[in-house]
Amino acid sequence: MTSGAVSVRSETVFTYGAPGLKFGTGASDEIGYDLSQYAVKRVLVLTDPRVAATGHPQRIAEQMAQFGIEARVFTGVHVEPTDESFEAAIAFARETGPWDAYVAVGGGSTIDTAKAVNLLTTNDGDLMDYINAPVGRARAPQHPLKPLVAVPTTTGTGAESTTICVLDVLALKVKTGISHVRLRPTLAVVDPALTMTQPAGVTAAAGMDILCHALESYTARSYTSYDRKSPEQRVPYCGANPISDLWSEQAMSLLAGSFRRAVHHGNDPQAREQMALAATMAGLGFGNAGVHIPHANAYPIAGRVRDFHPAGYPDDEAMVPHGMAVSLTAPEAFRWTFSSSPERHLRAAALLAPDHGYDAGPDALPAVLADLMRDIEIPNGLGAVGYGEDDVDDLVEGAMKQQRLLATAPREVTEEDVAGILGRSLELW
Ligand SMILES: [Zn+2]
Repeated sequence: MTSGAVSVRSETVFTYGAPGLKFGTGASDEIGYDLSQYAVKRVLVLTDPRVAATGHPQRIAEQMAQFGIEARVFTGVHVEPTDESFEAAIAFARETGPWDAYVAVGGGSTIDTAKAVNLLTTNDGDLMDYINAPVGRARAPQHPLKPLVAVPTTTGTGAESTTICVLDVLALKVKTGISHVRLRPTLAVVDPALTMTQPAGVTAAAGMDILCHALESYTARSYTSYDRKSPEQRVPYCGANPISDLWSEQAMSLLAGSFRRAVHHGNDPQAREQMALAATMAGLGFGNAGVHIPHANAYPIAGRVRDFHPAGYPDDEAMVPHGMAVSLTAPEAFRWTFSSSPERHLRAAALLAPDHGYDAGPDALPAVLADLMRDIEIPNGLGAVGYGEDDVDDLVEGAMKQQRLLATAPREVTEEDVAGILGRSLELW
């Protein structure tokens, strides 16, 4: 056998990590028992005011009493968290602690806040010590964290499976995160019954997030395309690999059968359950492979919003929801990445729309996506959420700051490439 063709420097190793998982209707009734297995006595339940109003966090907290666990509910989580909101939650947990475990009941914002609280109540220092460089000092935790149970109430973010938490640093006007393998929740409890009340607009945006998690990790550059890492250099997001591919493909098949139904018939329990399963599977995939261009673009698209108020979301704040922000440049991003692996793009189009008639070329996946987006009433491009030709440079600058994500793209991405993708996404159809 000759080895001359293979560089000794190329990567031969991939890693896979995942939380424990309890999935299904009624799963959230068992958290008291689950935590009792860790011999915990005091538990802090974190949630935001809106989810608190559903009664689920209180119910979960009360149910722990029968296992001799004292639980307290913190309802101050900020949706789209900031360094200030993280610090408020951390201060609360430090003042009322020590806590033996944390339970996060809510969307990605709540689960991310709980990760930061867990980190900063078990390790010294402040937020900036741990935030990704160059914004922060990217310190690794010195001590183990406490058990964290993540209970998602929106189907989409995958935050229950990932090792990162995302936040806005207000003074610097930048969205960044903390990323470390120890941040990953100990147990994800996915109870589709908690997602039944999601309005159609939220289901549509959150579902596009699931879809993009699956598609981006499926089309991410392969783990073998990186230089060989030493053990201490390994990162949770190692590029597409055979295990993440499996989850991504499954997530796409489930979405094909349930996404439209979950949006148009929100009280269909089977569609909700399949969406929850798709979200979980996509999370297990991208939580190891990573995401790329649509997610990099989503940061400035969501962050620089001026006056857009989507249906189904609170009226008081202008916003482009994360899943919507991700989806708006997805068709053009996948047209651009097509040449890196035509077979993967076509396979994804076939999984998502088995009966769709399209040419087997770069237009196939964008056509499938646009068709779906139109059907579930996602806006028809960046123009519809308030951006114009003049904003493209600004958005490019914001996207190029997400090098951690762009590095996972299957082709090298330049400023001009991103400008082209954003420009062609102003009006998608
Ligand atoms: Zn996402």
